[in-house]
Amino acid sequence: MTEPTPPQLKPMPDDWSRALAVVAHPDDLEYGCSAAIAAWTDAGREVAYVLATRGEAGIDTLAPDECGPLREREQRASAAVVGVTEVEFLGLRDGVIEYGVGLRRDIAAAIRRHRPELVVTLNHRDTWGGVAWNTPDHVAVGRAVLDAAGDAGNRWIFPELAERGLQPWNGVRWVAVAGSSSPTHAVDAGPGLERAVRSLLEHRTYIEVLTDEDPETYARTFLTQTAERAAPRFGGRPAVTFEVFAR
Ligand SMILES: [Zn+2]
Repeated sequence: MTEPTPPQLKPMPDDWSRALAVVAHPDDLEYGCSAAIAAWTDAGREVAYVLATRGEAGIDTLAPDECGPLREREQRASAAVVGVTEVEFLGLRDGVIEYGVGLRRDIAAAIRRHRPELVVTLNHRDTWGGVAWNTPDHVAVGRAVLDAAGDAGNRWIFPELAERGLQPWNGVRWVAVAGSSSPTHAVDAGPGLERAVRSLLEHRTYIEVLTDEDPETYARTFLTQTAERAAPRFGGRPAVTFEVFAR
């Protein structure tokens, strides 16, 4: 008996030229999403990153004032591997990001600065699927990104942004959530996978603390397995998946 074909994911929209990825921590994009970003920059699209924190609470053996600058450097290096040179840090405190009006304003400001058509973020849902609990920073930032895509276009919600010269930008057409357990769309992971491995490897300090495995083997195994899990839902091709909210 053959297995029934699972419902198929749609290819990501490709009629856009600028994307902005907004996530909580260094490495959030590299754990699964950067193969798609490599493919986009290859195709001549512009992608910029905004990181809410420097991930300074991410390494148990390293104090935040040492850890933050190191992880910022690693993040800039990992972005460069997939063709991203604009990397901004909002400077929020790692681990205690609060969802609210202030966070929406910071992200709306970033959207107005970069004027993207596509905004990418990380899973805003309570879990990664099943009982794998998400972290509060991811939930807060993901939700605020989904909200700020609308806030950025409304001149009356944060009038102080226009006073700072950030005019409304109502051009966000999609918010694509990576790492969602309810994906709707996908990008072929093949062409960008090797660079995604090298991009994740740039977070070497973090990875070396996380695992005893050889860092390259760890990064390659993690990203290959993640992409292959999506293959049955994308015509058999390893894929990066997104839950896409159209606007
Ligand atoms: Zn994270």
